[in-house]
Amino acid sequence: MVIVLEHDIRLEDKNEIRSFLEEKGYQIREIVGQEETILGAVGAAKVDPREVELLPGVKTVIPISKPYKLASREFRKEDTCVTVGPVKIGGRRIAVIAGPCAVESRAQILETAHMLRASGAVMLRGGAYKPRTSPYSFQGLGEKGLQYLKEAGEATGMPVVTEVVATDHIALMQNYIDVFQIGARNMQNFELLKQVGKTGMPVLLKRGLSATIEEWLMAAEYLLAHGTDNVILCERGIRTFETYTRNTLDLSAIPVVKKLSHLPVIVDPSHATGIREKVLPMGLAAIAAGADGLTVEVHPDPAKALSDGPQSLYPNQFEKLMRDIEALSAVVGKEVAKIPAIREAGGAAFSVSTGRSAGSGETLVAFQGETGAYSETALKGFFHFDVTSLPCKSFDDIFTSVLDGKAQYGIIPLENSLAGSVHENYDLLLRYPDIKIVGETKLRIIHSLIAIPGAALENITQVFSHPQGLAQCRRFLDDHPAMQRASFYDTAGSVAFIAKENRKDYAAIANREAAGIYGMQVLKEGIETNPHNYTRFAIISRTEKESGEKPNKAIIIFSAPDRPGALFACMKVLSQKNLNLTKIESRPIEGKPWQYQFYMGVEVPENTNLFTQALEELKTISEDPPRILGMYRV
Ligand code: PEP
Ligand code: MN
Repeated sequence: MVIVLEHDIRLEDKNEIRSFLEEKGYQIREIVGQEETILGAVGAAKVDPREVELLPGVKTVIPISKPYKLASREFRKEDTCVTVGPVKIGGRRIAVIAGPCAVESRAQILETAHMLRASGAVMLRGGAYKPRTSPYSFQGLGEKGLQYLKEAGEATGMPVVTEVVATDHIALMQNYIDVFQIGARNMQNFELLKQVGKTGMPVLLKRGLSATIEEWLMAAEYLLAHGTDNVILCERGIRTFETYTRNTLDLSAIPVVKKLSHLPVIVDPSHATGIREKVLPMGLAAIAAGADGLTVEVHPDPAKALSDGPQSLYPNQFEKLMRDIEALSAVVGKEVAKIPAIREAGGAAFSVSTGRSAGSGETLVAFQGETGAYSETALKGFFHFDVTSLPCKSFDDIFTSVLDGKAQYGIIPLENSLAGSVHENYDLLLRYPDIKIVGETKLRIIHSLIAIPGAALENITQVFSHPQGLAQCRRFLDDHPAMQRASFYDTAGSVAFIAKENRKDYAAIANREAAGIYGMQVLKEGIETNPHNYTRFAIISRTEKESGEKPNKAIIIFSAPDRPGALFACMKVLSQKNLNLTKIESRPIEGKPWQYQFYMGVEVPENTNLFTQALEELKTISEDPPRILGMYRV
């Protein structure tokens, strides 16, 4: 059963509840969530929940009806995020694990690891003990394989995952690996599950060849009940009558498991299909179906692979898969997980572009709006470590908070795919030369109609939102003429407002996350007229922060002199160096009527000298020396 505790429960009362349940024979797990703290009581004991409900400090008791308890959604409402070193699996990220089926040699795994890391994988896989159908097939390199895998992981900054096939390998493997993989053939090897669970280490649990979803979750329960909190479920295809593919990828298992369990779910399209050319479409389908990531087999020379060559991707196919996932991620409202370049000395904090956070360990990121704003969702997706968001009234406040050191970073919208550029922020970037852009992120904007619990769509007469929110939902509002539009300064702020007003005829248009934060209900999700609605945000920081990664994008600003062909001459410099522009935007210069500056997004090539030389040449042509507003990696 789940015991939900009162917010202000005294420690003595909590301890009383624990001892009461432990004496009855329950094992207790405490979970401190964002919204509430709960105690999970599992075991064979039987106690009337009403008896527990009477104990001081108990808010409610929820019996768990499922045979799996710790793995169930009833036990934990929020999604579990499994953290492995710098990598987080679950939540708003798509994590891609990749590597060969088996570690075959030191050179093979090192070469593969470097290539995978460059293409965007965050974890390295590779079998050292291979459970092969035939005893005459390659069985893996054993401990040597583990050594090579560890070396390749360390050389590239990627954690490593490999399959454990026997309980007596566990202790040895712990010296080399970050995540244990339980293979499909061992999903119901309960002794193995118990012993691996006892290590407390993260586990990637493959679904058995013919396992039902319930059996799979029961296997996860074994791991959780024996001591690990970090289980990643992996759908890898099941046996059906179909023989064209190696297995049948059960994509429907993803939304089913997501509803039943809080654990992250990834998909292995390689073993699911057994055919290289099917890996890419099924991998993308898995992401579209809500998977938290993929594990994919890749080999530098699949024809020579000692196992699973036909399903292993060529490096260039993997690169394409990563590019396609990047494009798809925005549609499903997630970010592709990345490994930050620099690890904070001695700390747990990582930063994608600057590698540093405040000395105190807490990283504050300023955004405009109230808690629950789209900017806040975007920043949570961008930073791959826990950050604290700092709401600001205006865009200017974001810049000053970063400048004063109150926040280490800020997030500012630069452009929306429907509404165009946010000029105010371009102007602020110019006004504050000590602020630099250090990264960027995109968010798909999905508007929801939000009201107080118990309200009904047909009774809504007033809809509050930022003018942009109202404009972007015009078709929906036109179809509901009873709803009057009311402008508000902020989308999330309008949700806070209707929560305070507590009226059944009021609604707000905002991010669905704002509904959760203010205890409101979503009456309808996805009411924006055009679903291709994205906002691009820049992450800003103070100048002295140094980028740890090789930049591949720059934002520069320059002004062309007022004579024929001046802008053309500037552009020619970039063209001669073969530099690709991603954007150009002109803005009036303050105090100089009818004169303009140009903001440009430029792709910085591998050979950064070309970019530096172009800037030098631009200096000789442009009115004022060109300024770099930021150079970073996207
Ligand atoms: C593997 O990942 O290498 C593997 C053997 O997978 P499965 O257990 O899913 O067959
Ligand atoms: Mn394999």
